[in-house]
Amino acid sequence: MSSLDNALSPALAARQEAHLYRQRRTLESPQGAEVLVNGQRYLNFCSNDYLGLANHPEVIAAFQNAANQYGVGSGASHLVVGHSRVHHELEEALADFTGRPRALLFSSGYQANMGTINALVGRHDFVFQDRLNHASLLDGALLSGSRFQRFTHNDPQALEKRLCEAQKKSPDSRKLVVVDGVFSMDGDEAPLKAYADLCQQYGAWLMVDDAHGLGVIGAHGRGSLEAAGCSLADAPVLMGTLGKAFGTAGAFVAGSEVLIESLIQSARNYIYTTAIPPAVAAATLSSLALIKREAWRRQHLQNLIEQFQQGLKGLPFELMPSHTAIQPLLVGSSEAALHLSEKLRDQNILISAIRPPTVPEGTARLRITLSAAHSEAQVQQLLLALAVVADDIHL
Ligand SMILES: *Cc1c(COP(=O)(O)O)cnc(C)c1O
Repeated sequence: MSSLDNALSPALAARQEAHLYRQRRTLESPQGAEVLVNGQRYLNFCSNDYLGLANHPEVIAAFQNAANQYGVGSGASHLVVGHSRVHHELEEALADFTGRPRALLFSSGYQANMGTINALVGRHDFVFQDRLNHASLLDGALLSGSRFQRFTHNDPQALEKRLCEAQKKSPDSRKLVVVDGVFSMDGDEAPLKAYADLCQQYGAWLMVDDAHGLGVIGAHGRGSLEAAGCSLADAPVLMGTLGKAFGTAGAFVAGSEVLIESLIQSARNYIYTTAIPPAVAAATLSSLALIKREAWRRQHLQNLIEQFQQGLKGLPFELMPSHTAIQPLLVGSSEAALHLSEKLRDQNILISAIRPPTVPEGTARLRITLSAAHSEAQVQQLLLALAVVADDIHL
């Protein structure tokens, strides 16, 4: 074995031992309610394709037409010569959809979060984040070198205590409060209005990562800010991803003219990377049109969520307090979560066992995600499969 492999092997073995080893499945079909993996059909309850748009004929056609018109690669970063007409149209459409003056495309949500946090705060500033925020937000704050504090999940009082201390210590420092709108592994929603009020009071700025809310929640699918009744002034920085409910890929930040121009000048994760393919932008314009036009997708998804929660009542699973498409079942040990996920796979149902460090120690779970692509019969099938494995929950 090489010296590199020798150095790395013990950690791999330890991971395996602790039931924390991660493995990929190879998908042989489009994303959808049913997928093909290793020649086997499965009912899929683990994608983030919440509205069933990843394989929608209109979105595919928009992608194909744009590939014919623009080719495949964008060929350069946005600031060099990679910013095409269709990227620009998508930015305008996303600004309009979110009710904000401007929007800026990034190549992924990870990049958008890293780049935005680092453009807004530095060494002498403060960043406050919910403990359960997405890894890209935590990494963004770490890289910024700012004074980074985490607060108890969904707890405005805990945030206020920290804001108050920071304000006393250095009233002139910038203060950025960053939260997920919908928490990716729990499915619950942040108390955005309470955070917005605190930010107002302490002169802080609220940034919301709405990867799991945009397109799905709010009366028009405009996401967590719409659902919470928050304005641009309440939450001046909104990050949205395109790889989830939009069914494509990439991400954007929406806000004021000055915010977006500042990101263009100084967000390194925006500047030093190749623009997403123009065809992806065209496909996203098409999925945005569907999100606006087909409100039935959100309604159907809501019905499935209710059906699932009702159906689970007779079973010994612990649902987490979520009203969204993310309906995790808390299991506890990684071993039991993995075991349940395998037993469900034997019944041709795909659900990921989410384990530490993605979630806190002792809170491994089955992360079930529902989609407008599912039928009631498929959710019923999921409930029946869960009933079969119910006895194995306390392994
Ligand atoms: C998925 C996700 C991201 C990252 O977005 P990508 O476009 O997949 O890089 C960021 N934040 C949250 C909360 C997410 O769930």
